[in-house]
Amino acid sequence: MDIRYFDNAATTKVKKEVLEAMFPYFCEQYGNPSSMYSIGRNARKAVEEARRKVAELINCKPNEIYFTGCGSESDNTALKGIAYQNKNRGNHIITSKIEHPAILNTCETLAKNGFKITYLSVDQNGRINLEELRRAITDKTILISIMFANNEIGTIEPIKEISQIAKMHNIIFHTDAVQATGNIPIDVQKMGIDMLSLSGHKLNAPKGIGALYVKSGIEFQKFMDGGHQEKDKRAGTENVAGIVALGKACELARKNMKSHIEYLSKLRDYCISQVEEKIEDVKVNGSKENRLPGNCNFSFKNIEGETLLLKLDAKGICASSGSACSTGSLAPSHVLLAIGLTSEWAKGSLRITFSEDNTKEDVDYLVNNLVEIIKELRKNNA
Ligand code: PLP
Repeated sequence: MDIRYFDNAATTKVKKEVLEAMFPYFCEQYGNPSSMYSIGRNARKAVEEARRKVAELINCKPNEIYFTGCGSESDNTALKGIAYQNKNRGNHIITSKIEHPAILNTCETLAKNGFKITYLSVDQNGRINLEELRRAITDKTILISIMFANNEIGTIEPIKEISQIAKMHNIIFHTDAVQATGNIPIDVQKMGIDMLSLSGHKLNAPKGIGALYVKSGIEFQKFMDGGHQEKDKRAGTENVAGIVALGKACELARKNMKSHIEYLSKLRDYCISQVEEKIEDVKVNGSKENRLPGNCNFSFKNIEGETLLLKLDAKGICASSGSACSTGSLAPSHVLLAIGLTSEWAKGSLRITFSEDNTKEDVDYLVNNLVEIIKELRKNNA
């Protein structure tokens, strides 16, 4: 059975060009970038070339990019690094209720260490309210961290407006752009972003490589002690092959951005219209206008998301549900609850996220199977 992969928000396939670019750094140019001899120098050159390509994708200077191990590490470094650096100035951080656990759980840890966290609510489309943000700011606020785009419902937040508010109050603005990078244009200068997290495996590079952009002049505490790599901010011998892969993936993403957006949004809109036309009692979650090009998120009434996923898997379909199976109970997604869904609707959710490998025929296969499976599950539940 062919596998039809619709879970590109979970992770993406490594592109052939990316794999080819990283290959020489395993067995040929395997030197340590800190070493003086030629294969060390070649590795250093490759790291710096990759840094330039990552910087180019988000329009910052190469020396504002720090390589990390993943998006979660970038988020941890940003939040803890700024919190501890500025604890004498203030102890208040503002974020949103729909962030990824890499932000929410980091905030929880900071809360246990004396920081106060405000979690902004979102509207039914998943967007924060700028008035609520303004009201939340106090003279102790040191950081605002709001995600660029949500990983479940694909909603894009009003980043420029948030950065303007942060700037007016002299507060650092960080954004978790793990889902947005490579999928939509990002210009940290035009958008006024101070810090940004991204992750390789969401844009066709391998797992285990991420980056954090930090605007020049912003001081932050390092996360880990050790060697002096990454301007003494991230100890550990560089993941040269991973870094080269991330650089290549960013280069490709920048080149293909226009066609990527056009192709994915067409598939997305076709999928949404087909599901709405062929299946009753369905909600489309997230914003219609401000949405990642490849994201669909549905809630089906009277359906358990986990059961639906198992049935789809039996047909070779890889997708995801908003509900997380923890300790045997199906907890509805915090994102879907935050946009106002009842737990009944939230439990019946399905996330479909496309890549350029998906075709219209894949969408037809998915929708036809969905129609059958949902009919069967509803009959059993009746
Ligand atoms: N932030 C968001 C919005 C994500 O979607 C993810 C991964 O799903 C992460 C952070 C964590 O990234 P990583 O898996 O690279 O640690």
